[in-house]
Amino acid sequence: MDTLLRSAWPVCAAVLGLILGSFYNVCIHRYLTGESIITPPSHCPHCRKRLGVAELIPLFSFLYLRGRCAGCGQPISPRYPLVEALSGLWACLLALNFGLSVPFFVYLAFGGLFIVASFIDLAIFILPDVLTLPGAALALPASVLLLGLPWAEAVAGALAGAGLFWLLHLVYRVVRKREGLGLGDVKLMLVIGALIGVKALPLAILWGSLAALLASVAWLKGHRGSLAQVPIPFGPFLSLGAMAYILYGPAFLDWYWRTILPQ
Ligand SMILES: [Zn+2]
Repeated sequence: MDTLLRSAWPVCAAVLGLILGSFYNVCIHRYLTGESIITPPSHCPHCRKRLGVAELIPLFSFLYLRGRCAGCGQPISPRYPLVEALSGLWACLLALNFGLSVPFFVYLAFGGLFIVASFIDLAIFILPDVLTLPGAALALPASVLLLGLPWAEAVAGALAGAGLFWLLHLVYRVVRKREGLGLGDVKLMLVIGALIGVKALPLAILWGSLAALLASVAWLKGHRGSLAQVPIPFGPFLSLGAMAYILYGPAFLDWYWRTILPQ
C-alpha cells in the first residue's frame, strides 16, 4: 500500500497541479482585465460564450479545441495551456522530490504565487502588490515554522534579496536615467529570500540571471538593439531561479562540492 501510494502520488500531484493551473489562469486573466475572480463564470473573452464542462478540463480542453474557441473560432491564448502545464509539472516534480509532506504543500502554494505573478509580469511588466506583499508576510513564518529554516537565515534571506535588488534598482535609475528594475522585483525578492533562505540566494539568483540572459539573447535574434535594451521582465526569471533551487539546489550544491573539492 505504501509503495502504491508512493508511485501514484506524483501522478495525483500532477492532476492537482493542472487543476490549480486553471485557477491560476482565472486569476491572471481577471487581474489583467479587472474582472472579479468569483463572477462571472468562465467564458471566452471574445464572444463571451460560457465554457462547458469539457472546456474547463485543464490542458486537454485546449488540445481538444485545437487552440480555438468552440463558439467564435478565435484562437485561445497559449498562456492558458502553458500555465496549466507548468503548474502540473511543478506539482509533479515537487511530489517526486518531497513526497506527501508539509514542504510539498508549502512549495506548491508559493509556486502558485510565482506562476501567477510571473505571467502578469510577462503581460504588463507589473508584479502586483496584492501577490508580493501577502506573500512576503507569509513566507517568513512558513519557512521557519513549516520548512524548519532557522529564523536568522530566513530574515537574512529576505533582507539580502530585497536589499540587493533595491540597490540594483537605484543604480539602474542613476546610470540609465530611467526606470528599469521595478520595485516589484524588490518585493518579490522579499518572498523568495525568506522562503529559501540567505544561503540559497546566490545560486537561485545566478540560475535566474542565466535564464534571463538566455531569453534576452533569444529575443535579440528577432529584434534590433543591444542587450541592455531588451524589455525583459525580471520577475519570471527570479521565480524560475527560486523554483529550480527548491527542486535541485541542495542536490546540485552537494554534487558541486563533492566534485570540486573531493576529499
Ligand atoms: Zn469565443
